[in-house]
Amino acid sequence: MDEFAVAVIGAGPAGGQCARQLAQRGIPVLLVEQHSNFSQNNYSSAASPLETMALFDLPPGVVARYWTNLAIAATEKEQIWYGDQPRGVVFDFAKLRQFLADSVEQAGGQVWLGHRFLAYKQVENGLEVTLRRSPAEKVTVKTQVLIDATGSKRAVINYGQNGQTIKADSSKYYRGIGTEYLIRVDQNIHQKFADTLVFFLGYRWSPQGYSWIFPMDNQQLKVGTAIFAGQHRYLGQLKPIRFYTEAIIRNYLRLEKNQYKLEEIHGSVLNYAVNQGDTYHRGPVVAIGDAVSTVNFLGGEGIRHGMQGANIAIPFVVDYLQGDPQAFEKYEQAMKAHFAEPWQRTENLSQRVYLEFGDRQIDLGVTYLSYLDYDDVLDLLFHYRFDRIYGGITPLLLKKFAQFSQQCRRWLRNLRRFFLI
Ligand SMILES: Cc1cc2nc3c(=O)[nH]c(=O)nc-3n(C[C@H](O)[C@H](O)[C@H](O)COP(=O)(O)OP(=O)(O)OC[C@H]3O[C@@H](n4cnc5c(N)ncnc54)[C@H](O)[C@@H]3O)c2cc1C
Repeated sequence: MDEFAVAVIGAGPAGGQCARQLAQRGIPVLLVEQHSNFSQNNYSSAASPLETMALFDLPPGVVARYWTNLAIAATEKEQIWYGDQPRGVVFDFAKLRQFLADSVEQAGGQVWLGHRFLAYKQVENGLEVTLRRSPAEKVTVKTQVLIDATGSKRAVINYGQNGQTIKADSSKYYRGIGTEYLIRVDQNIHQKFADTLVFFLGYRWSPQGYSWIFPMDNQQLKVGTAIFAGQHRYLGQLKPIRFYTEAIIRNYLRLEKNQYKLEEIHGSVLNYAVNQGDTYHRGPVVAIGDAVSTVNFLGGEGIRHGMQGANIAIPFVVDYLQGDPQAFEKYEQAMKAHFAEPWQRTENLSQRVYLEFGDRQIDLGVTYLSYLDYDDVLDLLFHYRFDRIYGGITPLLLKKFAQFSQQCRRWLRNLRRFFLI
């Protein structure tokens, strides 16, 4: 039986980054992925701020496109902020995960694609983990630490020792459903969107969620929609999710079906535990990434945060291997110290924006954002710096004051005309 110090199940951004870091520290690690290659399960839109590249030492080869501008379109109001240099990337999600897996192997770790986690059991000095290699073949490995990086599925941490999945209480989760079309468009259309992330809010485009157009290379665009599950305060039955994505292609990009090539439809479901209510560890079984809700539910950004969570876990995995039995308690505390406060705020805000706001409120919100400068908007959306919102008050007041004094001048002019003075 093969033996490892750590087995990481799931080669998404969190699992890949975790295994890469462990391998680079010389720790014997196995990275396991159920799919046999990374073009499968290529579900993420994969936009990220530019800092992600340096933060995780990523090469330009994993980037499909750099973005410079940001636009938000609501029912009545549309605002675009222009930059003069790249502010972020749209990853090629398959290449990003492939790069992380390759780095694991280069640093001496092992990567087993096409292996699905089935079960684990406690044995003397560790855990025995059973994987399905093919429909007919199972394989068992031994490990000291078992890491659940299976994303929203939480396949390992929710595995009960009796072989039954531990049932999650659905009232403790927010659920988001996302579907995306990868389309190939002609050069002119691609050029128009090549440097810009466009987000859609509001009832006209994306009731009960948000939609997007992100640029890729090779004349491709990603057009998608995410819907926040639950009963909206004002809205009734929604249309199927594809309806909203197709409406954006038709009514915003102004493309009929024969004017673009649909190359792929992909998507996934995000289950986010309310109030950081996840199980972070059970003995030497530890969860990272979306398995502990590192995705930010307001805008669905999860790659950077999943990788960040993996980095937070590393020293505690090392401490555990060196004999600290309390290491994973401390991991949970460290994760909460990093995520709890901003995640709590964005959790509440997303609940209000996607399930409670009227369309007019969303339009007013976007109108208000239009008074913020670009850096403040990016800080707000990517660093959850809600204090940046105050930056809009001065320009808004100045504009209102200018409008008011213009109005006064008009009244005065009319008065003078009226009294012939
Ligand atoms: C439609 C959509 C669009 C998104 N767009 C963005 C975006 O623009 N920017 C951004 O930052 N984030 C985005 N996200 C979120 C982001 O993709 C996730 O938060 C991120 O990928 C989570 O990383 P992870 O490694 O924790 O989990 P995942 O990426 O879900 O990886 C989990 C891996 O575990 C594997 N696995 C599952 N079960 C088993 C098993 N039993 N055995 C073996 N392997 C298993 C899966 O195949 C998968 O490869 C989007 C999400 C969706 C659904």
